[in-house]
Amino acid sequence: MNRKLIYFLPVFLSLLSLINLLMASNSPRPSEVLAQRESTAESTTVASSPLPPKEQASPTPEPEFTGYCLNVPILMYHHVQPWSQAQEKWQTALTVDNNTFDTHMAYLKSAGYTTISSSQLAQALINHSSVPTKSIVITLDDGYLDAYTYALPILQKYQMHADFLIPTGLLNNPDYMTGDQLKAALATGLISTINHTYSHFNLGAGNTEKISFEVLTAKKQLAEFGKDSAIFGYPYGTVAATKFLQENGYIAGLSTIQGQIQCDSFLISLNRTRIGNLPLSSYGL
Ligand SMILES: [Zn+2]
Repeated sequence: MNRKLIYFLPVFLSLLSLINLLMASNSPRPSEVLAQRESTAESTTVASSPLPPKEQASPTPEPEFTGYCLNVPILMYHHVQPWSQAQEKWQTALTVDNNTFDTHMAYLKSAGYTTISSSQLAQALINHSSVPTKSIVITLDDGYLDAYTYALPILQKYQMHADFLIPTGLLNNPDYMTGDQLKAALATGLISTINHTYSHFNLGAGNTEKISFEVLTAKKQLAEFGKDSAIFGYPYGTVAATKFLQENGYIAGLSTIQGQIQCDSFLISLNRTRIGNLPLSSYGL
């Protein structure tokens, strides 16, 4: 027994150091840290629990359904890419496999859903007007390169609209879209942009000056692309500075609070439905 232990100890130790070495060489780059931080924030809402999403208890109390309401789910995606690529980049927590995304869009099409923009939804809530039957909003967060390379061709294939939440200062960085790619995406007529701050900044963590810089710089830069909307998407799902946003022309905000019913009483923090790799029917669609 002792002899065996002595024999295996060096093997075990060298295995340990090999594992350490591998982990170190795969340590995430800043952009991945960002993704993982958001993943942590968002995974507390859905992903970490074994229960199917529709049986989840919401982390924040369901908003009261007061005022004028519409049942329009806002689907929330981040990375859309091959699963193997997500594994290589340590992005699985925020990835929907591109073939799954294709299946999702095909499902929405065949189930008779109509994609509208967050802006159209907000206008309908403000005007107390209707939207097409089975309207749905698709959002892709953070301006990742894969939204352009993988998600956009699929959206074009099914002619479906999506909103891109863009942290403008991250454009042209590795793993993010370039400005030209965003322009090309907008030229398809299928994409709208949503202000997601300049540097993917948590609005709950800043003073007025910092919040002003983050929101207004992104607003100005998105306006230069010509397809800006008056909608704000809260980085990390932190609903904050709502008064500032409204004073600066934002008519609605996208939270990460789970829910499909949208009301004019909480326009500034509309609900979303976080989508993973399960069939869309598992998310109540
Ligand atoms: Zn984000």
